[in-house]
Amino acid sequence: MVTMRLLSPTRRTIFSFASILLVVAVLGCAATIPFVWPSTSLWYKTGSDKLVLQIGKVFGLCAAVLFFVQILLVQRLVIFDRIWGLDRLSFFHRINSFLILALAITHSGLVILPEGLDNLPIGREFWPEMVGAALVITLAFFIAVALYRRRLLAYDVWRKVHRPVGYLLAVVLIIHIFNVSDSFETGVPRGGLWVFIGAIVLTIILAKYLTARMTLKQLPVSAGRQAGEGVVGLRIEVPSSFSYAPGQFAFLSLHGGGIAPETHPFSISSAPDFPTKRSSSIEFFIKQCGDWTSTITPETGLQASLTGPFGLFSYKARPLPPMIVCIGGGIGITPLLSMIRQLSTEQDAPKLMLVWSVTRKSDMFLSEELTELQSRLPFLHTHIIYTGGEGGRRLHEESLSALLKDVPDNSHFYICGPEPMMSDIRGHLQQLRYLRKSIFWERFSL
Ligand SMILES: Cc1cc2nc3c(=O)[nH]c(=O)nc-3n(C[C@H](O)[C@H](O)[C@H](O)COP(=O)(O)OP(=O)(O)OC[C@H]3O[C@@H](n4cnc5c(N)ncnc54)[C@H](O)[C@@H]3O)c2cc1C
Repeated sequence: MVTMRLLSPTRRTIFSFASILLVVAVLGCAATIPFVWPSTSLWYKTGSDKLVLQIGKVFGLCAAVLFFVQILLVQRLVIFDRIWGLDRLSFFHRINSFLILALAITHSGLVILPEGLDNLPIGREFWPEMVGAALVITLAFFIAVALYRRRLLAYDVWRKVHRPVGYLLAVVLIIHIFNVSDSFETGVPRGGLWVFIGAIVLTIILAKYLTARMTLKQLPVSAGRQAGEGVVGLRIEVPSSFSYAPGQFAFLSLHGGGIAPETHPFSISSAPDFPTKRSSSIEFFIKQCGDWTSTITPETGLQASLTGPFGLFSYKARPLPPMIVCIGGGIGITPLLSMIRQLSTEQDAPKLMLVWSVTRKSDMFLSEELTELQSRLPFLHTHIIYTGGEGGRRLHEESLSALLKDVPDNSHFYICGPEPMMSDIRGHLQQLRYLRKSIFWERFSL
């Protein structure tokens, strides 16, 4: 079992800068190729035509480098998770896809421009160019499907298709690069490209190996309960080698009871040392809200597989502030509960406030836990906000301002809930003098 501790903010910044520098260096090296090792097609060009073609090739090479980076971003590599967190990596993955498409389209335009339309229709000998054009079209289609996937496909089906198609596109891209330009026939560009491809393949193999080492199988589900309306609590026995930080999540799959063998991310709502030091079980609360989660029932006798832990949504990822404010919306309480539970075991715990907004009373599924925590943590202030029904109210700037009136400026805020709620609260907190760098949030989508 591989476990990797959270890194300090300074180390995260250093590693982050180092990796960005590495990508920039590779992009820089790729950009020199059309100038230092020009292909024979450039020999016959002069003036602006030559420059346009060279710049077009630079765009294409940058798109190719970023395409390989794109594959690395979704490897669930624990080292990357400890630096950025998987949620941020999947955000980079989305942004990077648009950047690659923009670079690839510009590349196509710029390499066609100096040629004009004289060579049309192009002959068979230009098959590498045709492969390139097909790549750009497939990429645009691929991104469009990813954008609308929620409406088009179930997540699991989409993921099963997305991955192999991504690898296939990478192979086609390599064929395109090696054949479209004779710059890659010999010498430094060819050697450099092989080294780059080798490094990417090795990183993928390392990610697969580490993921396998981070996976625990055949774990018994020792307790299950219907924790509230539409929420199931499952307790899973884990070996003592499994360690996690409060607030982290894991990928869970369940076997038995007719449940589909899919893997889904869930925050661990138990805490490493609560109620006893190094507890031998962990707990999840699962909202029965979708195709897969609706099939989960509070059964025991199931077996679970677990890959993790992942995530940086933990007060352990940074120095303790004088006060921590946890703001949860609905099922978003789970990582916050883990942090509050762990803090209740710590001597030097800071002051704590929990603001939990739920639609109805029946959504409030943790009354016993909260009463117990309150008795262990006299300095915990809990506010439950009901947003639905008559008299329901949302958390807006005014109500937050009233709740937070004694909360010091240098406090830390941990928010988890529906995306619109989190973005509103982030905005309100910044309006209310709190710094962006002291506000942390967890999205329940990757
Ligand atoms: C870091 C993190 C922590 C989470 N913690 C909790 C928690 O403690 N309790 C809880 O109830 N929910 C939690 N979720 C949400 C939970 O993962 C989804 O509700 C669940 O996967 C939905 O699956 P479904 O097939 O039932 O629903 P669907 O309606 O099929 O999916 C709804 C959405 O969930 C996401 N999703 C679905 N399947 C997967 C998958 N296999 N992998 C990744 N994302 C997927 C997709 O964005 C999808 O659009 C968490 C999510 C993340 C990312």
